[in-house]
Amino acid sequence: MQDVHRRIVRSLSTGKVIDDCILDDVPDEVLHRRLIVPDNLRVELIMKGALKMFEAKGSDVAEIFSQPRVTQEAALRSYDGVRLTPGWSLDLTRDDPLTGKPWDLAKSAVRERVREMVRETAPFLVIGSPPCTMFSSLQNLSKNRRCEVEFKKAMKIAKEHVKFSLEIYKIQMKAGRYFLHEHPNSASSWSMPEVVEMMAHEDVDVTTCDMCAYGFNTSDNIGEALVEKRTKLMSNPPEVLKRVGLQCDNRAAQTKGEKHRHADTTSQAVLQGGMCRSRRTEKIEELRTHGAAPNEPECHGIAEEVHEHAKRRSPRE
Ligand SMILES: [Zn+2]
Repeated sequence: MQDVHRRIVRSLSTGKVIDDCILDDVPDEVLHRRLIVPDNLRVELIMKGALKMFEAKGSDVAEIFSQPRVTQEAALRSYDGVRLTPGWSLDLTRDDPLTGKPWDLAKSAVRERVREMVRETAPFLVIGSPPCTMFSSLQNLSKNRRCEVEFKKAMKIAKEHVKFSLEIYKIQMKAGRYFLHEHPNSASSWSMPEVVEMMAHEDVDVTTCDMCAYGFNTSDNIGEALVEKRTKLMSNPPEVLKRVGLQCDNRAAQTKGEKHRHADTTSQAVLQGGMCRSRRTEKIEELRTHGAAPNEPECHGIAEEVHEHAKRRSPRE
């Protein structure tokens, strides 16, 4: 237990936090005390080295508004015997080891810390996947049913998140580094003036890809099937975009009939681009519980491309 900094114990039956302590501050007998009523628990351990991940300089890839996906892949695999150096990943579901509070990018103090981290740690590529639910057409359809004030407030926050991502990308570009922005192809965020301006930058390009081409799947009423989830990507290294634009075989197929079935996602409200979110939340739960890695093929694809690009660059700064 020497390397553990903090221990959080949750009840799986109620979801409530039963205990949250800094190990060095608590005597062993308190630490090892028994539960009064037997319960199923989820124990989360924050290692002493957790902070180092957010301070390490010169990683190959870091992620904002995301749990570790590409960074996870980067850490797990080697490419031609070479390993990528994974950097930090942050979103609301994860805590800042420095403050013990979630990375809530709606808060200006958290945003400032992230700006500083990007400048200080200088990741080669920052991947941004800001929440996209508010920008879906389904969301706009249900707009009338929701309180106008609430809707506007949520939309304002969603736009702030996109604008913050752009701000981070600009820091990257100014320093001669890279970014990759992902949002659903149909998201209305693509017509935000700030996003349009970014797309018009001479060094920035966009492409679309289908998640089914990367093996992204889910279950619907019939069973397991691939999810089409057309995604638009914006980035400044053209090599990355050239390699991540895989399209659905069905679209490319000249023959009659579909090569694969797409999951019916219309009944899953969560799929308003937000599938990424809920699925990732499940994944991180999995990660935190079992230490298992998420197996999202698109992450592997992107990590591979980052590596391709990174290995061609001049020696590390
Ligand atoms: Zn498909």
